[in-house]
Parts: sequence; structure tokens; C-alpha cells
Amino acid sequence: MDEAQKILVVEDDAVTRARLAFLLRKNGYQVDVADDGDSGWIRFQELHYPIVLTDWLMPGLSGPELCERIRRYEGEVYTYVILITGKTEKSNIALGLEAGADDYVTKPFDSGELLARLRTGRRILDLQASMREAKRQLQDLASRDGLTEVLNRRALEERLAEAFTYFLRRGTPLSIAMLDLDHFKQINDNYGHQAGDDVLREAARRVTSMIREYDTIGRYGGEEFLVLLPDTPGEEATSIAERIRRSIAELPVETRDGGTIHASVSVGLATAHAGFRGNVKDVIESADAALYRAKRGGRNRVEHGVGEGIAGAPRSALG
Ligand SMILES: [Mg+2]
Repeated sequence: MDEAQKILVVEDDAVTRARLAFLLRKNGYQVDVADDGDSGWIRFQELHYPIVLTDWLMPGLSGPELCERIRRYEGEVYTYVILITGKTEKSNIALGLEAGADDYVTKPFDSGELLARLRTGRRILDLQASMREAKRQLQDLASRDGLTEVLNRRALEERLAEAFTYFLRRGTPLSIAMLDLDHFKQINDNYGHQAGDDVLREAARRVTSMIREYDTIGRYGGEEFLVLLPDTPGEEATSIAERIRRSIAELPVETRDGGTIHASVSVGLATAHAGFRGNVKDVIESADAALYRAKRGGRNRVEHGVGEGIAGAPRSALG
């Protein structure tokens, strides 16, 4: 059943209520009914309807009051509200619209008109849904690196802050891997920038395939990537980093012009364990220092921040 076919009818007059429910069901709507404003409000909170058709005058909550509540309650997903007005409320229609109603029909209502107004409502809801989807796609696009399609630096830093907050609250170890493609400048110089781009893209793809659903990879700088490994102690992080390193070193990258390039990556790891008193910058610095050691130690290797991977040791211990 199409979600936009769901409708809540709130009407205290039994005859009108039954007539409405019959008409709407006959026309393909999935109808729920409530016999006054208060029970309508309860139903709405239970099942969030895309369309609410409500009478104006009812014992308890009136139609406009119900409408106001819906407006305050609803989140990103809009509810289309149509007020049913009698002759007496007709002169007050501005009041109903101010309460947030989208449209109104007058009693006694004409079936054809009511169905037409509902179709308008559904068109608006459809439009809103596609705008939400477009917005989501834009947000996703804005958080991705154009070349490698992993998170860009800004989005990565947001995720890093979130991961660190989670770590502080839970105390479960947070590991961070800093990856840097080895001799990348030479790749660019020897094979050209297009080939260099191919290597970056392929490296990002391989790292992505090596990490778990809840890990995060982002492009940190030119040929530098950061991988966030939440809930991951040092030893486990090391074996993930080793898998990543091998996935890049063991198979040459095929470039778009049909060539192959042997690439490798150096990885610096740092882990914040429970009791760690530093901030997120300290963990990054520790990973960075480990990366530096991996480079100095011959590249295509993994180094862990401090000893057994306990970040938070004094900076002097990083060496
Ligand atoms: Mg009434």
C-alpha cells in the first residue's frame, strides 16, 4: 500500500464519519477513524498519518487545535491536514488556516470535490518526499570527496568528533589509522596525474572493502586517508591495518590507460583506551607520529602509536 494512501478521519458525527470512511475506502484509501479530537490526537501519535481529514467542532480538541498539535509534533515528514467546516465556522476559516491547516471542505461536502482536494494533498506530499530525497542526496554529495567518493575532510572531522564523544561516554577503545600512499609524488611524476588519481581511487576502494560496516574512511589530505575504528582495541586495529596494507601492496593498480602501477601504503595507528585523558587531537598526533615511523622504517608497513597501542602516554614516548 502506497504510504500516501493512509488517511486519518477525525469526526464526531457518526453518520458523516461513516460516509467519509466509505467514500475514501471505495477510492483506494486506507482509512482509520477517530470519533473526537482527543482520540484523533492519540491515533496520530501512534501511527503518523500523511493525511488527516478533521472536523472543526468536536468535544474536546477542536479541529484547529488538533492541527496545531500535529504541526508542533511532526518532524521532517509533513502531514497534510484538511479541515471540514460547517456553515458557522466558514467565516472563521482564516483561523483554521492559521492553525496550520492546508485546505478545507465545507459540509455538506461534495464527494468529487473532496477527492480532488485529497489528490492535491498527495501531489504536495509526493513533491515534499522528492525534495527530502534531493536534499539527502545533496547532503551526501557535500560530504564526499569528489575523486575517491569517501568522506571528505570536513565530514570526516565531524565523524571523528562523534566517534571520540562516543568513546568518552562508553570507554570502549577507539582506534584511528592514518594511511599515506608511499612515494605518491613519484607515481604522479612517472605516470601522470590521471594515473595518480586512479591509484587514489583504487586505494580508497580497497580500504573501504577491508573495513567493517561501522568503521569510517575519509580522505584526510592529498594522498592521506584516515580510518576510524570504533570499539577496536590496539591489537585488532593492527590486524585490520595489516589487511589494508596487504590489499594495496599485493595487487598492482590497473590504470584507465591499461597500465599497472605497484603502490603501497604506510599506516600509523593510535588507540585511545578507557582512562585516556587527552583529546582527539592527541590521538591524531599519535597516529601521525606512528605514520612517520612507518615511513622512516621503510614504508609499506604498519606502526602503532605507543608500545602496545595505548595512546595517551606522554608525547615524549612517541619517539
Ligand atoms: Mg462536529
